[in-house]
Amino acid sequence: MEQTLSIIKPDATKRNITGRINAMIEDSGLRIIAQKRIILDLKMAEGFYEVHKERPFFRDLCDYMTSAPVIVQVLQGKNAIEDYRKLMGSTDPKNAEDGTIRKAYALGIQENSVHGSDSPENAKIEIGYFFSDNEIIA
Ligand code: ATP
Ligand code: MG
Repeated sequence: MEQTLSIIKPDATKRNITGRINAMIEDSGLRIIAQKRIILDLKMAEGFYEVHKERPFFRDLCDYMTSAPVIVQVLQGKNAIEDYRKLMGSTDPKNAEDGTIRKAYALGIQENSVHGSDSPENAKIEIGYFFSDNEIIA
């Protein structure tokens, strides 16, 4: 079994559609084995998106991620990382395929409703960023 970190982003919590996104996650076969609603402070957001710190959208991205609550969650499945990336769809919802979360709900390239880890290495780091072992109940 593999685990990945998911974040339901501020655009989705603001619109009260976290349940609908969780339904898509569960319908896909992934299991939500840890979940909490938090507000990221700027330090947490900057640390989380550290890899993007030289990108022109970094400041905006961090402001957006701290603008409303997020739901951080750990998803489990046989190929959870890749399966969740597929379920999310392309970063820019204009390019997202039918049946993906971003096609259904994303507002734009920044306000794209969900995050998912992109590799096993990053999944481990990102899960550890938000959860201690005793909060993950498989
Ligand atoms: P995530 O890491 O959130 O799962 P991703 O891997 O599809 O998304 P990344 O390239 O890692 O996309 O970008 C991280 C996030 O930064 C995106 O999800 C989006 O919110 C924001 N972002 C990416 N590219 C742009 C852009 N060109 N303009 C504005 N925001 C962007
Ligand atoms: Mg990414």
